[in-house]
Amino acid sequence: SDVMERILRRRSLQLRNKQQEWQESPEGQKMVEFRRSLPAYKERDALLNAIQQNQVVVVSGETGCGKTTQIPQYILESEIEAARGASCSIICTQPRRISAMAVSERVAAEKGEKLGESVGYKVRLEGMKGRDTRLLFCTTGILLRRLLVDRDLRGVSHVIVDEIHERGMNEDFLLIVLKDLLPRRPELRLILMSATLNAELFSSYFGGAPTIHIPGFTYPVRAHFLENILEMTGHRLTPYNQIDDYGEEKMWKMQKQAQSLKKRKSRLTSAVEDVLEIADFRGYSLRTRESLSFWNPDSIGFNLIEHVLCHMVKKERPGAVLVFMTGWDDINSLKDQLQVHPLLGDPSKVLLLACHGSMPSSEQRLIFEKPEVGVRKIVLATNMAETSITINDVVFVVDCGKAKETSYDALNNTPCLLPSWISKAAARQRRGRAGRVQSGECYHLYPKCVYDTFADYQLPELLRTPLQSLCLQIKSLELGGITEFLSRALQPPELLSVQNAVEYLKIIGALDENENLTVLGRNLSMLPVEPKLGKMLVLGAIFNCLDPIMTVVAGLSVRDPFLMPYDKKDLAESAKAQFSGQEYSDHIALVRAYEGWKEAEREQSGFEYCWKNFLSAQTLKAIDSLRKQFFYLLKDSGLVDQNIENRNKWSHDDNLIRAVICAGLFPGICSVVNKEKSIALKTMEDGQVLLYSNSVNAGVAKIPYPWLVFNEKDGHLKMLGGYLEFFMKPAFADTYLSLKRELEELIQKKLLNPASDMESSNELLSVVRLLISEDQCEGR
Ligand code: ADP
Ligand code: MG
Repeated sequence: SDVMERILRRRSLQLRNKQQEWQESPEGQKMVEFRRSLPAYKERDALLNAIQQNQVVVVSGETGCGKTTQIPQYILESEIEAARGASCSIICTQPRRISAMAVSERVAAEKGEKLGESVGYKVRLEGMKGRDTRLLFCTTGILLRRLLVDRDLRGVSHVIVDEIHERGMNEDFLLIVLKDLLPRRPELRLILMSATLNAELFSSYFGGAPTIHIPGFTYPVRAHFLENILEMTGHRLTPYNQIDDYGEEKMWKMQKQAQSLKKRKSRLTSAVEDVLEIADFRGYSLRTRESLSFWNPDSIGFNLIEHVLCHMVKKERPGAVLVFMTGWDDINSLKDQLQVHPLLGDPSKVLLLACHGSMPSSEQRLIFEKPEVGVRKIVLATNMAETSITINDVVFVVDCGKAKETSYDALNNTPCLLPSWISKAAARQRRGRAGRVQSGECYHLYPKCVYDTFADYQLPELLRTPLQSLCLQIKSLELGGITEFLSRALQPPELLSVQNAVEYLKIIGALDENENLTVLGRNLSMLPVEPKLGKMLVLGAIFNCLDPIMTVVAGLSVRDPFLMPYDKKDLAESAKAQFSGQEYSDHIALVRAYEGWKEAEREQSGFEYCWKNFLSAQTLKAIDSLRKQFFYLLKDSGLVDQNIENRNKWSHDDNLIRAVICAGLFPGICSVVNKEKSIALKTMEDGQVLLYSNSVNAGVAKIPYPWLVFNEKDGHLKMLGGYLEFFMKPAFADTYLSLKRELEELIQKKLLNPASDMESSNELLSVVRLLISEDQCEGR
């Protein structure tokens, strides 16, 4: 070890020389100058001092003040200066892949190095990290995974958890684990960084850790809400009931026309303007929060954004525009639309850029650069531009008011959730982005009265995501008893909901009696969907009917692709009913609609197909990409039949598909009582529920099955949301329960040995077939 120490020391001295050389070079000097101009620099010594003297330090400061790029660097530099460069190891976590990658690239550049030398990054399935990497940026998930195999984080000297104010589930999770670790590793340093001032909460969680605030300055930003925006762009507000003339159909036709025009790359003519007109009428009529539900962000929000952008581009005042949107699919399609938009004027005077998790890194750099004089930079971004990325020359901000709430995120972002309204704090933060270098303006694309209904802060993810997935995660990371572990969170969830979640996991066979993870549970913890949907996928793979089951699960996790325009509801309903046919099943309708769309896509007529059948192409595309993800994950776990011929052997057996759906959703079943004038539905445990109004079974005089399975129900309204499925006679529940154990054992056996093909899978098949056998089904 003497020799080791000498080698380390020599290496550390080399690093120190290298750092000095760079800082004295002309380029390095320029960088040093820039870095010294950041607000964080004034606090450098205070920060380093605090970190030396305390195990935990909380740092807060306005976005852009230099937390992410500077503080990890200050630590690394001071270690290098103290000739400990070769023995330190700093890990800085980021909530998103893209920030881990972008920041590491920036920090390496500031150090005059290539990525992968002393600075590197690691995200799922990707990384750039060398033998000499001392500062590693990674996603929170990566650090959690490392903790699984290296509980004490041996060799790590500093852990920096960035963007803690976002209160993502992984971050809250990580804090519990780190809090446990600190007493075991007294020399380990933990630094928590946050954009907002509620540092108190974190400080007291870590026994009164010192907090350091980096003062910053922002210029005033004028806020415009929808009312003023409409005035500015020369429109009037029309009451909702006056717009009935503008039918959905006309709008569709025009969009179609616009689309085909765009295909030919010709300039768009009045068609687009007509669409804008109609869409805007719809948009303007929205005055209360309730009526806003008619505001379809897929189309109407877009046109509003287009209008506002056109209005701004024509302004004299220079400055970049930052547009907050909900997801990359929206961003890409708006970008496509704008690229050929006549109202934007000379295309060479506009620099349109997208900023989201999967943008190419060439575009990443352009986002930070100042465009040529006379060129307007427009950046279309997701809410990652709220705090993790700072674009200095932004003067105008457009805020659509929505963001996709990330839910269960065991395997990085899956596009699972609907956009929902942001919080007041987030709206303020978005507005603030316009005042970095001079006073700015912010256009909120919603009325002030809607803003007033926003929550002050967003609820922490831990308190708003389904606990079932979280509990599985705790078990798979071997973090001990679920209830006890969660009780130590920054803001613990209610005990009763934890207990319910554990109970549920036992019922579906993911945990055994002693709360240990079963083989099924382990498989489910690796799938980025709720456990019951994960179970459906596992069953679909085992029973060789994977394709339709993947469609069902993807559909249930993305959103309903069937559109129900309010003024064409009858037509839309009959289009959907055609897919379901004699099956009276929303699931089967979904499978058939998706398959028809794939077929149409192959023949280049996907758009016509969607138009004719009232389907959302965007949703179908999202379903398509989620299916691919499912497939790779299942294949990784060895569950997918190696033999391609076998894979879909039972995919056309609707009865089997139903059985699998039922086995997945159980105990989500309700009985059907057909009455004279109405239909009553009763769940196993809590009585009366109502049918989801878009279900193929809604509005029918008589449901031909005595049971339905369902995916979701809303606790307050007692509404059945989601899909419903046929079911069997009342004795079914008993039969099911008695067969359930057998089924679970077989699944377990199959999972333990996925390769053991024929025998167990035939056994399983016979159990499932029994579930749906003729004598179990009434009225078929
Ligand atoms: P914080 O984490 O406090 O929000 P950052 O450390 O991310 O701040 O950024 C500090 C400054 O460095 C910002 O003003 C930003 O403009 C600049 N910066 C960050 N990343 C880049 C980059 N890739 N290229 C150029 N400038 C950057
Ligand atoms: Mg930051």
